[in-house]
Amino acid sequence: MPDQYAVIGNPVAHSKSPQIHAEFARQTAQDLIYVRLLAPTDGFVAVVEAFRLRGGLGANVTLPFKGEAFGYATRLSERARAAQAVNTLKFEGDTIFGDNTDGAGLVNDLRRNLGRMIAGQRVLLLGAGGAARGVIKPLLEQQPASLVLANRTPDKAERLAQGYSGGVEACGYAALAGRQFDLVINATSASLTGALPPLPPGVFATSALAYDMMYGVGETPFLAFARANGATMLADGLGMLLEQAAESCVVVRGRRPATPPLLGGRR
Ligand code: NDP
Repeated sequence: MPDQYAVIGNPVAHSKSPQIHAEFARQTAQDLIYVRLLAPTDGFVAVVEAFRLRGGLGANVTLPFKGEAFGYATRLSERARAAQAVNTLKFEGDTIFGDNTDGAGLVNDLRRNLGRMIAGQRVLLLGAGGAARGVIKPLLEQQPASLVLANRTPDKAERLAQGYSGGVEACGYAALAGRQFDLVINATSASLTGALPPLPPGVFATSALAYDMMYGVGETPFLAFARANGATMLADGLGMLLEQAAESCVVVRGRRPATPPLLGGRR
């Protein structure tokens, strides 16, 4: 029987994880079965526990269950603890190991695929939800010159920043007027509804990279705005998706697959 893995979410039908992990398995000559599991919104633990008891070796967790997966794990990586969210579960005997590979996915995409340094850069992160929470620590580890967290509800950004003892500055969008950044990362869900976060137009420094975590919808309003306002490099979140999956493959199966063959004509 091949090793069994799953992605668990709600909805989950749109998830690209089965195709991505099938391609990784092909590359690394491993045999596995990787399925989608739809869990009711109040039934994550029942679904994941049944899968584990059937012999599943690990799972990827997507919306809206990353917080519940954090509570379900019996051992946590440091980066999962910082994010308070888990997107990768590995089952080892009675131990349920929880990790979070979203931040490593973003950093690896920026550095390896896009060739952008983070060290010494002025970084602006938009949003204070689960996606932003997952990437703050990995971004700080790259030693940017500064990291500003802007959110529509500034209190939420302030609460999040407090966990990083002065390493992160929090604000609302209006406070960004007159400031410039080398790297502007959209971790809001605004692109899901075709909306644009209320950014002042002057935030993009010369040679700025605008990065939208959203993927698969063409040029988002954020990327169009960035293009019109001086950003010279634009990227969607496909690379982050692939890199977080590759990192999760390292955690669960101990092998790092190559992601560039899957990036195709992303940009
Ligand atoms: P959450 O629901 O946890 O957070 C949403 C955030 O977006 C909040 O900060 C919210 O602000 C903000 N927001 C929503 N609408 C607007 C708007 N119109 N203008 C300004 N801010 C807005 O979502 P997640 O953090 O989980 O996900 C965010 C995005 O990241 C999604 O598009 C998701 O698909 C993507 N993502 C991509 C990944 C990848 O691998 N590429 C991985 C993980 C996520 P407020 O607090 O004021 O409500």
